[in-house]
Amino acid sequence: MAHRVTLIPGDGIGPELAEATRRVLEATGVEFEWETVDAGEAVIAEYGTPLPDHVLESIKRNKVALKGPITTPVGEGFRSVNVTLRQTLNLYANLRPARSMKGLDTRYEDVDLVIVRENTEDLYAGIEHMVGRDAAESIKIITREASERIARFAFDYAVANGRRKVTAVHKANIMKLSDGLFLESCRTVAADYDGKIEFEDRIVDNMCMQLVQKPDLYDVLVLPNLYGDIVSDLAAGLVGGLGVAPGANIGTEAAVFEPVHGSAPKYAGQNKANPTALILSGALMLRHLGYPDAATGVETAVRDVIAEGVATTYDLGGSAGTSQFADAVIERLASVSAAR
Ligand code: NAD
Repeated sequence: MAHRVTLIPGDGIGPELAEATRRVLEATGVEFEWETVDAGEAVIAEYGTPLPDHVLESIKRNKVALKGPITTPVGEGFRSVNVTLRQTLNLYANLRPARSMKGLDTRYEDVDLVIVRENTEDLYAGIEHMVGRDAAESIKIITREASERIARFAFDYAVANGRRKVTAVHKANIMKLSDGLFLESCRTVAADYDGKIEFEDRIVDNMCMQLVQKPDLYDVLVLPNLYGDIVSDLAAGLVGGLGVAPGANIGTEAAVFEPVHGSAPKYAGQNKANPTALILSGALMLRHLGYPDAATGVETAVRDVIAEGVATTYDLGGSAGTSQFADAVIERLASVSAAR
């Protein structure tokens, strides 16, 4: 049965990365029926919005989308497509694995972290106002329901993926009510996994220092929205940066898989950008669709090509183009699959 998946190529480097990723995913043998819809800068003139209704309808119908980066126009009054998608489709969990790869010039060799970020509330609820002329107030919303839901997601992910520990990250020593509630919710959920998955907590500032000094001590991290945003970039930096950092936004009704990086407009249309992050987001999608072997095959092929260092893109020190990198991954995929 072919899987119907919404494909949003996106802006800037998005379309060339999406094409490279589509080719790699199809080379796994899993059958896809792509429903390609456009969102972003290119459609504003036609629809008056970067996120037309039919794009949302397509994701709701297919329940799975693969999405390239989308430019957020500055100062034109449009909300970020990415934030709108997450909130409208209630994609409450943002999953960002960060794993070291051979061949990349990084400080550590064996980082293997999974960041689980709450995606719907905290300071990103967008509730802020001026208090008079000279003060501004942003409201931080933390609820028991959303905190327990994200904690359960982190523990379930840990169980399903053979991970050993979940660390809750917070600042409950200062924000005793909001972060206190987040921590309490994580502890409540942790009790259900007692004996199966280890649980601990860290204050966010200490967490950042520990991740920089000894990332190997950590496994799955669960964080409220703002800390999750910051710490996931820190984790991406530990393993080689934006070009190789995949992501997934997962809810009960739909899931959208997208790279962490943006649309890098200066490289658009040059067959230059690195498709690794979108390809690895596609591997997360394969796992979500129930194809763990195909997902591992793609991840192994990408890692092998990067370790070999012959067909890598400019950001990894190579001179291959986007499509040549994809060709090398597809070639490698054939031998990885044959070896299994
Ligand atoms: P960016 O991620 O586009 O670029 C940052 C730097 O990383 C640039 O030097 C860029 O050339 C490089 N880079 C990014 N992806 C790369 C890749 N795949 N291969 C090689 N190099 C890569 O961030 P930015 O410049 O801050 O943002 C550009 C636009 O993207 C903005 O409009 C922003 O709002 C948008 N954005 C979208 C998303 C998303 O769609 N999820 C995420 C972040 C930024």
